Amino acid sequence: MPITTEDTLNWLRQLALVLHEQRTYLTELDSAIGDADHGINMDRGFKAVSEKLQTQTETDIGSLLKLVGTTLVSTVGGASGPLYGTAFLRAGLATAGKRELYAADYVALLEAALEGIKARGKAQPGEKTMLDALTPALAAAREAAEANLDLVEITRRASDAAEAGVQATIPLIATKGRASYLGERSAGHQDPGATSSWLILKTLADTYAARSSQT
Ligand code: ADP
Ligand code: MG
Repeated sequence: MPITTEDTLNWLRQLALVLHEQRTYLTELDSAIGDADHGINMDRGFKAVSEKLQTQTETDIGSLLKLVGTTLVSTVGGASGPLYGTAFLRAGLATAGKRELYAADYVALLEAALEGIKARGKAQPGEKTMLDALTPALAAAREAAEANLDLVEITRRASDAAEAGVQATIPLIATKGRASYLGERSAGHQDPGATSSWLILKTLADTYAARSSQT
């Protein structure tokens, strides 16, 4: 069963709620190695997304993801706005015109998002950023798709790999973004952007699994 436009809307609406609930947690993580605004940034951006989605039903997945991208770029300050904005814009291009995503489409979406963040932020895995959650997530999704697992399992494995990637950011020394100003003192703290990347993938896995179990 593919991921539909309706599933995408459910994901994005639920994501706005999750990021609102987790705003204090994300901001606390950012207060240790940044400027204590990551939760505020994500909450503001996805609140705006959720408002725009209220008038969007008869559309395709690519258009929805592009709308998320433009909304994040225009409403979120800081590093994460343009980075996630680019990620969603690229994901929208990768899924342009589609109303259903199959395993290969989901892998292509993740890859496009990851490449967008790399192009925009010039970071590589291992620098204590969102890439440290998304890179293992893409690898896990690709492996699961190649093994012909279903999308419930593929999205779950991507989310689980991102979660492990988040934990693996703790010992890393940041060399990109605000946390890099701390140098070695950034070690010992979990990266906020990697954490929000995991929440984004987890919310898709959760909402899609819930819908699949109903049908
Ligand atoms: P700011 O750092 O401007 O306050 P946020 O607090 O919203 O913005 O986001 C911080 C997160 O952005 C970091 O935890 C990190 O994961 C991510 N980040 C920062 N710079 C980069 C980059 N060049 N590439 C990828 N991710 C980055
Ligand atoms: Mg910040």
